[in-house]
Amino acid sequence: MRKICVINQKGGVAKTTTVVNIASGLSRQDKKVLILDLDAQGNSGTCLHAASTKDMFDLLIEGADIRECITHLGKNLDMITSKETLTKAELILVGEQNREKMLCKKLKDLKDYDYVIMDCPPSLGLLNQNAMLYADEAIIPVSTDILGYEALKKIIRAITTLNHVFDHGLIISKIVPTLYDQRLTLCREILDKIRSEYYELVAEPIRINSKLKEAPRSGKSIFSYDPFSRGAEDYKRLVQVIMQDEQRFIDLAQTKQKMVKIRAEISN
Ligand code: ADP
Ligand code: MG
Repeated sequence: MRKICVINQKGGVAKTTTVVNIASGLSRQDKKVLILDLDAQGNSGTCLHAASTKDMFDLLIEGADIRECITHLGKNLDMITSKETLTKAELILVGEQNREKMLCKKLKDLKDYDYVIMDCPPSLGLLNQNAMLYADEAIIPVSTDILGYEALKKIIRAITTLNHVFDHGLIISKIVPTLYDQRLTLCREILDKIRSEYYELVAEPIRINSKLKEAPRSGKSIFSYDPFSRGAEDYKRLVQVIMQDEQRFIDLAQTKQKMVKIRAEISN
Protein backbone atom coordinates (compact mmCIF):
# COMPACT_ATOMS: atom_id res chain seq x y z
CA MET A 1 0.00 0.00 0.00
CA ARG A 2 1.45 3.35 -1.02
CA LYS A 3 0.75 6.24 1.34
CA ILE A 4 1.16 9.58 -0.36
CA CYS A 5 0.56 13.06 1.03
CA VAL A 6 -0.03 15.81 -1.51
CA ILE A 7 1.37 18.72 0.36
CA ASN A 8 2.39 22.37 0.15
CA GLN A 9 1.79 24.97 2.86
CA LYS A 10 0.79 27.43 0.15
CA GLY A 11 -2.89 27.57 -0.85
CA GLY A 12 -4.10 27.59 -4.45
CA VAL A 13 -1.26 25.52 -5.92
CA ALA A 14 -3.59 22.69 -7.11
CA LYS A 15 -3.19 20.23 -4.23
CA THR A 16 -6.88 19.30 -4.25
CA THR A 17 -7.08 19.23 -8.04
CA THR A 18 -4.07 16.92 -8.09
CA VAL A 19 -5.45 14.62 -5.35
CA VAL A 20 -8.84 14.25 -6.99
CA ASN A 21 -7.46 13.58 -10.45
CA ILE A 22 -4.58 11.28 -9.59
CA ALA A 23 -6.87 9.30 -7.26
CA SER A 24 -9.50 8.99 -10.00
CA GLY A 25 -6.85 8.19 -12.59
CA LEU A 26 -5.33 5.44 -10.44
CA SER A 27 -8.75 3.95 -9.68
CA ARG A 28 -9.36 3.75 -13.43
CA GLN A 29 -6.17 1.71 -13.71
CA ASP A 30 -7.74 -0.84 -11.37
CA LYS A 31 -5.95 0.40 -8.30
CA LYS A 32 -7.98 0.57 -5.12
CA VAL A 33 -7.68 4.11 -3.80
CA LEU A 34 -8.65 5.91 -0.61
CA ILE A 35 -8.57 9.70 -0.46
CA LEU A 36 -8.09 11.23 2.99
CA ASP A 37 -9.20 14.83 3.16
CA LEU A 38 -7.26 16.55 5.92
CA ASP A 39 -8.27 20.06 4.93
CA ALA A 40 -11.18 21.57 6.89
CA GLN A 41 -12.29 23.30 3.69
CA GLY A 42 -13.46 19.87 2.52
CA ASN A 43 -12.67 20.68 -1.10
CA SER A 44 -11.84 17.20 -2.32
CA GLY A 45 -15.24 15.96 -1.15
CA THR A 46 -16.87 18.92 -2.90
CA CYS A 47 -14.98 18.20 -6.13
CA LEU A 48 -16.39 14.66 -6.25
CA HIS A 49 -19.80 15.45 -4.71
CA ALA A 50 -19.10 13.09 -1.82
CA ALA A 51 -22.01 12.74 0.60
CA SER A 52 -20.80 11.44 3.94
CA THR A 53 -22.35 10.91 7.33
CA LYS A 54 -19.15 10.49 9.33
CA ASP A 55 -15.85 12.06 8.45
CA MET A 56 -12.26 12.79 9.45
CA PHE A 57 -13.32 14.57 12.65
CA ASP A 58 -15.29 11.52 13.77
CA LEU A 59 -12.33 9.28 13.01
CA LEU A 60 -9.68 11.39 14.74
CA ILE A 61 -11.62 12.75 17.69
CA GLU A 62 -14.88 10.89 18.27
CA GLY A 63 -13.43 7.38 18.09
CA ALA A 64 -15.70 6.38 15.19
CA ASP A 65 -15.01 3.10 13.44
CA ILE A 66 -13.07 3.71 10.27
CA ARG A 67 -15.59 1.73 8.20
CA GLU A 68 -18.31 4.19 9.16
CA CYS A 69 -16.17 7.11 8.05
CA ILE A 70 -15.42 5.83 4.56
CA THR A 71 -17.62 7.13 1.73
CA HIS A 72 -17.74 5.04 -1.44
CA LEU A 73 -17.44 7.15 -4.55
CA GLY A 74 -17.17 4.53 -7.23
CA LYS A 75 -15.51 1.32 -8.22
CA ASN A 76 -12.08 1.38 -6.53
CA LEU A 77 -12.49 4.89 -5.13
CA ASP A 78 -13.28 5.75 -1.51
CA MET A 79 -12.84 8.87 0.59
CA ILE A 80 -12.83 10.04 4.17
CA THR A 81 -14.18 13.54 3.81
CA SER A 82 -13.77 16.52 6.08
CA LYS A 83 -15.61 19.70 6.90
CA GLU A 84 -15.06 22.80 9.00
CA THR A 85 -15.25 20.78 12.27
CA LEU A 86 -11.75 19.57 11.43
CA THR A 87 -10.44 22.96 12.57
CA LYS A 88 -11.72 22.05 16.02
CA ALA A 89 -9.94 18.70 15.76
CA GLU A 90 -6.62 20.45 15.46
CA LEU A 91 -7.30 22.42 18.66
CA ILE A 92 -8.38 19.29 20.52
CA LEU A 93 -5.38 17.31 19.32
CA VAL A 94 -2.98 19.91 20.72
CA GLY A 95 -3.80 18.63 24.21
CA GLU A 96 -3.26 14.97 23.33
CA GLN A 97 -0.22 12.84 23.87
CA ASN A 98 1.32 11.60 20.63
CA ARG A 99 -0.79 14.20 18.84
CA GLU A 100 1.35 14.11 15.70
CA LYS A 101 0.74 10.39 15.24
CA MET A 102 -3.02 10.23 15.77
CA LEU A 103 -3.67 9.45 12.11
CA CYS A 104 -1.08 6.64 12.20
CA LYS A 105 -2.83 5.21 15.24
CA LYS A 106 -6.30 5.38 13.71
CA LEU A 107 -5.20 3.87 10.40
CA LYS A 108 -2.79 1.27 11.69
CA ASP A 109 -4.94 -1.66 10.52
CA LEU A 110 -5.82 -0.16 7.14
CA LYS A 111 -4.48 -2.31 4.34
CA ASP A 112 -7.27 -2.83 1.83
CA TYR A 113 -5.99 -0.21 -0.59
CA ASP A 114 -3.26 0.07 -3.20
CA TYR A 115 -3.03 3.83 -2.65
CA VAL A 116 -3.93 6.18 0.20
CA ILE A 117 -3.75 9.76 -1.04
CA MET A 118 -3.96 12.67 1.37
CA ASP A 119 -5.21 16.15 0.55
CA CYS A 120 -3.41 18.42 2.99
CA PRO A 121 -4.37 21.87 4.30
CA PRO A 122 -2.37 24.97 3.36
CA SER A 123 -0.41 25.19 6.60
CA LEU A 124 2.36 23.50 8.50
CA GLY A 125 0.13 22.64 11.46
CA LEU A 126 -0.70 19.48 13.34
CA LEU A 127 -2.93 17.94 10.67
CA ASN A 128 -0.15 18.23 8.13
CA GLN A 129 2.31 16.71 10.57
CA ASN A 130 -0.12 13.82 11.02
CA ALA A 131 -0.36 13.39 7.25
CA MET A 132 3.42 13.51 6.77
CA LEU A 133 4.06 11.02 9.57
CA TYR A 134 1.52 8.56 8.17
CA ALA A 135 2.83 8.93 4.62
CA ASP A 136 5.88 7.27 3.09
CA GLU A 137 5.88 9.64 0.13
CA ALA A 138 5.14 13.28 -0.56
CA ILE A 139 4.01 14.71 -3.86
CA ILE A 140 4.52 18.48 -3.93
CA PRO A 141 2.43 20.53 -6.36
CA VAL A 142 4.17 23.83 -7.09
CA SER A 143 2.59 26.71 -8.95
CA THR A 144 4.99 27.94 -11.62
CA ASP A 145 5.36 31.47 -10.28
CA ILE A 146 7.67 33.32 -7.90
CA LEU A 147 5.70 32.61 -4.74
CA GLY A 148 5.30 28.97 -5.78
CA TYR A 149 9.06 28.61 -6.09
CA GLU A 150 9.57 30.16 -2.64
CA ALA A 151 6.95 27.85 -1.14
CA LEU A 152 8.73 24.82 -2.63
CA LYS A 153 11.92 25.67 -0.73
CA LYS A 154 9.91 26.07 2.45
CA ILE A 155 8.06 22.74 2.23
CA ILE A 156 11.27 20.88 1.45
CA ARG A 157 12.85 22.41 4.57
CA ALA A 158 9.77 21.45 6.60
CA ILE A 159 9.98 17.83 5.40
CA THR A 160 13.69 17.66 6.22
CA THR A 161 13.04 19.01 9.74
CA LEU A 162 10.12 16.64 10.31
CA ASN A 163 12.20 13.64 9.22
CA HIS A 164 14.96 14.69 11.58
CA VAL A 165 12.79 15.47 14.62
CA PHE A 166 10.61 12.37 14.34
CA ASP A 167 13.22 10.03 12.88
CA HIS A 168 10.90 9.56 9.93
CA GLY A 169 11.70 8.73 6.31
CA LEU A 170 9.23 10.74 4.25
CA ILE A 171 10.50 10.75 0.68
CA ILE A 172 9.63 13.37 -1.91
CA SER A 173 8.56 11.19 -4.81
CA LYS A 174 7.52 13.95 -7.23
CA ILE A 175 7.47 17.71 -7.56
CA VAL A 176 4.60 18.63 -9.85
CA PRO A 177 4.74 22.06 -11.53
CA THR A 178 1.16 23.30 -11.81
CA LEU A 179 -0.84 26.14 -13.34
CA TYR A 180 1.72 26.22 -16.12
CA ASP A 181 1.14 28.71 -18.90
CA GLN A 182 3.77 28.14 -21.56
CA ARG A 183 3.04 31.51 -23.19
CA LEU A 184 4.44 33.26 -20.13
CA THR A 185 8.19 33.77 -19.87
CA LEU A 186 7.94 33.74 -16.10
CA CYS A 187 6.34 30.28 -16.02
CA ARG A 188 9.01 28.93 -18.37
CA GLU A 189 11.79 30.46 -16.29
CA ILE A 190 10.44 29.11 -13.02
CA LEU A 191 10.00 25.65 -14.54
CA ASP A 192 13.62 25.71 -15.78
CA LYS A 193 14.81 26.78 -12.35
CA ILE A 194 12.90 23.99 -10.59
CA ARG A 195 14.21 21.43 -13.10
CA SER A 196 17.78 22.64 -12.77
CA GLU A 197 17.62 22.15 -9.01
CA TYR A 198 15.57 18.98 -8.65
CA TYR A 199 16.21 17.11 -11.93
CA GLU A 200 14.28 13.87 -12.29
CA LEU A 201 12.12 14.57 -9.25
CA VAL A 202 10.26 17.10 -11.37
CA ALA A 203 7.25 15.75 -13.27
CA GLU A 204 6.02 17.22 -16.55
CA PRO A 205 3.99 20.36 -15.79
CA ILE A 206 0.22 20.44 -15.49
CA ARG A 207 -0.86 23.14 -17.91
CA ILE A 208 -3.49 25.76 -17.21
CA ASN A 209 -6.79 24.36 -18.42
CA SER A 210 -10.24 25.79 -17.75
CA LYS A 211 -11.76 22.30 -17.84
CA LEU A 212 -9.93 21.51 -14.59
CA LYS A 213 -11.65 24.51 -13.02
CA GLU A 214 -15.07 23.52 -14.35
CA ALA A 215 -15.00 19.80 -13.51
CA PRO A 216 -15.81 20.15 -9.75
CA ARG A 217 -19.17 21.76 -10.60
CA SER A 218 -20.35 18.43 -11.99
CA GLY A 219 -18.67 16.41 -9.22
CA LYS A 220 -16.50 14.62 -11.76
CA SER A 221 -12.81 14.03 -12.23
CA ILE A 222 -11.29 15.49 -15.37
CA PHE A 223 -11.33 12.00 -16.94
CA SER A 224 -15.12 11.85 -16.79
CA TYR A 225 -15.75 15.54 -17.33
CA ASP A 226 -13.64 15.99 -20.44
CA PRO A 227 -11.37 13.04 -21.29
CA PHE A 228 -9.95 14.85 -24.33
CA SER A 229 -8.92 18.02 -22.50
CA ARG A 230 -5.34 19.08 -21.85
CA GLY A 231 -6.01 18.63 -18.15
CA ALA A 232 -6.96 14.97 -18.68
CA GLU A 233 -3.88 14.47 -20.85
CA ASP A 234 -1.55 15.97 -18.23
CA TYR A 235 -3.03 14.15 -15.25
CA LYS A 236 -3.08 10.86 -17.18
CA ARG A 237 0.63 11.24 -17.79
CA LEU A 238 1.22 12.00 -14.10
CA VAL A 239 -0.75 8.89 -13.08
CA GLN A 240 1.44 6.79 -15.37
CA VAL A 241 4.61 8.27 -13.90
CA ILE A 242 3.36 7.56 -10.36
CA MET A 243 2.59 3.97 -11.32
CA GLN A 244 6.03 3.48 -12.85
CA ASP A 245 7.52 3.98 -9.38
CA GLU A 246 5.16 1.47 -7.80
CA GLN A 247 7.47 -1.45 -7.13
CA ARG A 248 10.27 0.76 -5.84
CA PHE A 249 8.05 2.38 -3.23
CA ILE A 250 6.33 -0.84 -2.17
CA ASP A 251 9.78 -2.39 -1.57
CA LEU A 252 10.87 0.68 0.34
CA ALA A 253 7.78 0.66 2.58
CA GLN A 254 8.34 -3.03 3.34
CA THR A 255 11.99 -2.43 4.24
CA LYS A 256 10.90 0.41 6.50
CA GLN A 257 8.37 -1.81 8.26
CA LYS A 258 11.02 -4.47 8.84
CA MET A 259 13.39 -1.86 10.30
CA VAL A 260 10.70 -0.61 12.70
CA LYS A 261 10.07 -4.21 13.81
CA ILE A 262 13.77 -4.92 14.32
CA ARG A 263 14.21 -1.69 16.30
CA ALA A 264 11.22 -2.55 18.50
CA GLU A 265 12.67 -6.03 19.14
CA ILE A 266 16.07 -4.57 20.03
CA SER A 267 14.59 -2.05 22.45
CA ASN A 268 12.45 -4.71 24.19
P1 ADP B 1 -5.17 23.98 -3.39
O1 ADP B 1 -5.83 22.71 -2.98
O2 ADP B 1 -3.67 23.88 -3.40
O3 ADP B 1 -5.62 25.15 -2.60
P2 ADP B 1 -6.85 23.82 -5.75
O4 ADP B 1 -6.66 22.47 -6.30
O5 ADP B 1 -8.08 24.08 -4.98
O6 ADP B 1 -5.56 24.27 -4.92
O7 ADP B 1 -6.73 24.82 -6.99
C1 ADP B 1 -6.92 26.23 -6.83
C2 ADP B 1 -7.77 26.73 -7.98
O8 ADP B 1 -7.05 26.58 -9.20
C3 ADP B 1 -9.07 25.97 -8.15
O9 ADP B 1 -10.05 26.88 -8.57
C4 ADP B 1 -8.77 24.99 -9.27
O10 ADP B 1 -9.92 24.63 -10.01
C5 ADP B 1 -7.81 25.79 -10.12
N1 ADP B 1 -6.86 24.98 -10.88
C6 ADP B 1 -6.05 24.00 -10.42
N2 ADP B 1 -5.27 23.51 -11.40
C7 ADP B 1 -5.61 24.18 -12.53
C8 ADP B 1 -5.16 24.16 -13.90
N3 ADP B 1 -4.18 23.32 -14.31
N4 ADP B 1 -5.73 25.01 -14.77
C9 ADP B 1 -6.69 25.88 -14.38
N5 ADP B 1 -7.15 25.95 -13.13
C10 ADP B 1 -6.62 25.13 -12.19
MG1 MG C 1 -7.13 22.26 -1.37
